[in-house]
Amino acid sequence: MLLLVTILLVIGLLALTVLVGLTLTSLVTLITAPGQFVRLLRDRQLRRNHALEHATINVIEERFGPTRLAGLARQDGFLIFGPVAPTLVLEAAQEGLRRLQHGERQLAIHPRCGTTLVASQLVLALAFLATLLLLRQLSPLPFLVGLAAALLLGPRISPFLQRWVTTDSQVDGLAIQGLQPQLVPLQLPWTNVLVPVPGALLVRTGATEQASLAGSVTVLTPDARTYQVGRYQID
Ligand SMILES: [Zn+2]
Repeated sequence: MLLLVTILLVIGLLALTVLVGLTLTSLVTLITAPGQFVRLLRDRQLRRNHALEHATINVIEERFGPTRLAGLARQDGFLIFGPVAPTLVLEAAQEGLRRLQHGERQLAIHPRCGTTLVASQLVLALAFLATLLLLRQLSPLPFLVGLAAALLLGPRISPFLQRWVTTDSQVDGLAIQGLQPQLVPLQLPWTNVLVPVPGALLVRTGATEQASLAGSVTVLTPDARTYQVGRYQID
């Protein structure tokens, strides 16, 4: 009898800890997740690089099927993590950029994007807290409702969030400026020691104008003929 009471008490305490923990995590998510989206909304360069990062992985996966590649957009370009040849990444980035510029906006959407995770966390938090407030009692139901909502809605909301908030497929004027290997910290087994190893490729991007305005050209003509200077036509 005493054993049964102890077991029930432990289970009850565990359930309470999980529910209280989940409530706190949900409240934190409700505060932090929208902030992450707002930060991205304000940073057009980051959203354009994010679009190109998705397009690059999409182009590679069109050719070779699903991969385990991951990406991370930055101000100066984007990182690609995973076993992939640098020449393939560069080629795919150039093709992705060209196709985005020609209006293939769906290339900027990727199902494995971190947006899906944040969207699912947000849905879980909202559904969990709403059910908890509605029932006003501690039971597994709010958690189950939250989980079902996150699994059902997260992946469906993500493409819209990617399209309107976390990426920007208007990449006119964006250019690929180079590719360089990046070191990533690798944790040695059974230790806390981190060792930098080559594990990512940085595709650097920048504005097209930067490159073409690097040098200036002055053309003086006595008559009104048309001149071709580099990529520019002067009338
Ligand atoms: Zn992404």
